[in-house]
Amino acid sequence: MGWAQLLADGETVARYWSHVLRRGPDQCWWWTGGLTDTAHGTFRAGSHTTATSRVVPAHLFGFRLAHGPDSIPAGHVVRHTCDEPPCQQPRHWLLGTRGDNNRDAAARRRLAGHALADVRGAVGRARAVQAAIAAADGAEEIEAAIAAALAAGNPSGALQNPLF
Ligand SMILES: [Zn+2]
Repeated sequence: MGWAQLLADGETVARYWSHVLRRGPDQCWWWTGGLTDTAHGTFRAGSHTTATSRVVPAHLFGFRLAHGPDSIPAGHVVRHTCDEPPCQQPRHWLLGTRGDNNRDAAARRRLAGHALADVRGAVGRARAVQAAIAAADGAEEIEAAIAAALAAGNPSGALQNPLF
């Protein structure tokens, strides 16, 4: 089943958004559904109206939802400028090559306080944020819980801005 068919399926689109915590225009939009072992979001796309279904990476579905079914050229990946693999904020996505991605990740992983330097690893970090969101009640409490969950992976207290 092609992307165009999945993107046109209202049930699939609704399921995608049901797993996204939408926040401010510059903030990360956290994925609250299933995670891969690289901490990317994942969910089952397709429904009774599309006859078959398949599990897809959430950010690849979301990127195509924002930019069209053919918006990711062959050989390209969707990168996260925020370095948070579960993030679904369209403004934090950037097309690039796997080489770009690996080069940047290697450089940033060494920066104390950076998302990629989280002592819990990418999946531990993503799960901690998901648990914080699930336990919090109300927008204000959710913001505080997310901030605390992120800070917990950085015992040094160092802060780093994203590189781009
Ligand atoms: Zn983000």
